[in-house]
Amino acid sequence: MDKFIVSARKYRPQNFNTVVGQSHITTTLKNAIKNNQLAHAFLFCGPRGVGKTTCARILAKTINCLNQTPEGEACNTCQSCTSFDAGASMNIHELDAASNNSVDDIRSLVDQVRFAPQAGKYKVYIVDEVHMLSASAFNAFLKTLEEPPAHAIFILATTEKHKILPTILSRCQIFDFKRITTNDTVEHLQEIIDKEGIHAEKAALQVIAQKSEGCMRDSLSILDKIVSFTSGEVTYQNTLEHLNILDHDYYFRLLEALLAQDMAGAILLYDEINRKGFEGDMVLNGFAEFIRNILVCKDARAISLLDVVEGMQEKYKSVAASVGAGYLVSALNILNEAEIHFKMARNKRLHVELTIIKLNFLQQAIELSLQEGNIVKKKRVDGPVAINYKPVPSIQIITPPVNIQTAGGKLLVEEKKKTPIAAQVQPSIKPALPQTPPPSMAPVISMVKETVPSSYPNTTNTQTSVTKGGGILDALRSKYGDRYTVQEVKDPISITMETLQPHWNHFAAKIKEENKISQANAFSTATLEIVDDSIFLVKVDSTLQQKFIEQEKSIVLEELQKHYHNRLLTFNFFINETERDSTPTVKPLNSKQRFERMAEQYPLLRVLRDNLKLEIDM
Ligand SMILES: [Zn+2]
Repeated sequence: MDKFIVSARKYRPQNFNTVVGQSHITTTLKNAIKNNQLAHAFLFCGPRGVGKTTCARILAKTINCLNQTPEGEACNTCQSCTSFDAGASMNIHELDAASNNSVDDIRSLVDQVRFAPQAGKYKVYIVDEVHMLSASAFNAFLKTLEEPPAHAIFILATTEKHKILPTILSRCQIFDFKRITTNDTVEHLQEIIDKEGIHAEKAALQVIAQKSEGCMRDSLSILDKIVSFTSGEVTYQNTLEHLNILDHDYYFRLLEALLAQDMAGAILLYDEINRKGFEGDMVLNGFAEFIRNILVCKDARAISLLDVVEGMQEKYKSVAASVGAGYLVSALNILNEAEIHFKMARNKRLHVELTIIKLNFLQQAIELSLQEGNIVKKKRVDGPVAINYKPVPSIQIITPPVNIQTAGGKLLVEEKKKTPIAAQVQPSIKPALPQTPPPSMAPVISMVKETVPSSYPNTTNTQTSVTKGGGILDALRSKYGDRYTVQEVKDPISITMETLQPHWNHFAAKIKEENKISQANAFSTATLEIVDDSIFLVKVDSTLQQKFIEQEKSIVLEELQKHYHNRLLTFNFFINETERDSTPTVKPLNSKQRFERMAEQYPLLRVLRDNLKLEIDM
């Protein structure tokens, strides 16, 4: 027994068939080898200790084997295989990118790649932790990766696929390694135990597999340690002790005490656990995991997720049957909160005890709410709800009288246009207006017919004086009605060429009188076309003409709108393209054309040129 060394190295798989838990990858690789369809670059991704480097080594060995088996495995007996097994092969190069991540490291690797192998067919380059390469190293690598020599195969391995550049990903065949399941790990450990002739309880192996969380390397080294500590007698108990794992039996007892609302018993139990050397956070975490396992047992469909030591399943199931799901879910919540706040708690022990007390009274709380009948639901209101509002206080304007007059007048018009009803429902708003406004400032209120509220039948008359109360407008009118001239609202008149053209001509004449010659010309040369009742087109020959008319647009529109009783009346521009095209353009002439033109006018020029034998400089 003293010669015994269990190690990840000794039991490293020697061919694809012995790789644990990655059959989806080994099968693909074997088929690729059999069919001679091997890619030149592979990317092996997955968590640590699941067999990435092992698979890379097996691949290197297999493709160099002199007598491959028909299944695509290495023979393990030929010269190449033996030198691989002895670690003496020259055809495999491993680079740990974590410690050799510079451009120079990659350059020296790339330089080696050029040389063909002295023996065997392929040289295999394994770059481990490839995500650690610097950006420039990645770039130095790209070219070689894209066009590798026929004898070179690259296997890049990484635990962090998301850190690999897309340019690298696109050049590689990607294999995703899975976490090794507890069952696979246990089976593999069992094989090793059998080969070594050691006695180990299956429950102990399960605990080791759970602790290693899918990493085969970890599970082997744990087994290694426990075997050497226990002189080859691996039991459930000594494994728990060695791994500092709390026996699930404690959790069963703790839950039992909590369900019985035996607070003293639960706290004493925690004290016992604590004295064994288990810290509070471990207990919280372990108990949460335990509750989770119980919860999983509540449903037959989820029972496959129960990850516990063999032989314990029945106990979990029986406990699950006696606890309500409500309690378990609430308990998980409390434990989760407690775990999150554990770090911040100053008195860790009190923190855990408080959590236990909460869990203790949880059952009582649930029972109470059950006794009272249904769970109290929040009130729901389906219909519309009246909202409390604050009454708007009276507006007090305290600016000088002259300004108020105009401001008040404008405000009045605006309010009337937008919300004619508002004036009726807010009788409390009474702007403080001056008693005697100067007559010259009295504003003219122009109104459109449709905005006049029906409750004011008299507003259409000029010089209205409404005495009816109940609105800000009424109040204002009763006070100042005689001062306001309210214009009569009439139906809009449709525009026609017969009525529009004289107006337009009138503008042209008026502008000319003002000595705006360009603008007047623009008006008189423009032609008009009616589009509909309120829009007409002004056809112009150029944008310049348009600009001249635009300068006067507001005045023109104001007058026209007044005339046609239509506030929506407007005009758009239309630039006559055809007329613009017909304007003659001056083309530059070249020297020869210029001479011909001049010679036409002065024929002597031609004589002069001929007699003196002059050449025209083109
Ligand atoms: Zn071989």
